Amino acid sequence: MSVSCPECGRPMRITLRSGRRSWQCTGRFKTPNCSYEQAIPDDERLPTEVIARASMQGSDNGDELAKDQAKYRRAAGSLDKVVDESLYLCGEERDALREAARILRRLGDAAEVAKRKKKQWEKAEAERAAKRRAEAYKSLKARYLDANRSPVDLYLVLCAFAQDKGMTPVFDRDRLGKVFDNALMSGSSFAEHIKRELDYDVEREIEEAAQFVGYGHGDLSVALASFVDNIEKASQSLRTREQPMIEAIEDKLAMANDPKVVPLRRR
Ligand SMILES: [Zn+2]
Repeated sequence: MSVSCPECGRPMRITLRSGRRSWQCTGRFKTPNCSYEQAIPDDERLPTEVIARASMQGSDNGDELAKDQAKYRRAAGSLDKVVDESLYLCGEERDALREAARILRRLGDAAEVAKRKKKQWEKAEAERAAKRRAEAYKSLKARYLDANRSPVDLYLVLCAFAQDKGMTPVFDRDRLGKVFDNALMSGSSFAEHIKRELDYDVEREIEEAAQFVGYGHGDLSVALASFVDNIEKASQSLRTREQPMIEAIEDKLAMANDPKVVPLRRR
């Protein structure tokens, strides 16, 4: 018996219904849905590899399988001890208990194989997810940080990221004033200061967004394109609402370039 669903090819697991086993497709609650189920004849003895694969597919994590392994081996050890120590068993009874211990060891072996495979799979899955997030970060960084956007553009991008999470942007008028004062006091360029501040904020947003966009299994470029599309649309439509702040940024940029303001810089 194969452990892949004959109808949709997804992995199958074994379930119990009133003590009777059946193969069940893991696509039951997925889309497209598959409800394939096939009873296993009660006299069918499953090979150890099949038990291992089915339990790997049916369990949520490797730790669960490690517990199973320990449980079966402990139980087998207890039976062996009974056979060795009991003064009252006849040969037939001893044989029955030894056979039971063998069956339990077989389950323990299957659980061990399943545990190892599951752990490998979990590791590969974690690596895959990390790679996806890194790709998402790289792509968003190229688009928003390395593209040399103007401070107003960066501010709008920041607002769009915040709106996407249902929050308000952290860069407000108060902070704008502080950045301006700091630039003047240190005698350095306000344009550079504000860009550095906004870059810093946008980078935090990108790091966070990459976690979400990178999550999942679908086509990453499709997920990225739709995320970027949302951000672009939002930053365009936020232009009207953010007009006062945009003007404030532009005023400060103009002021920093005004020769009458320059002499006010303290050194
Ligand atoms: Zn199926």
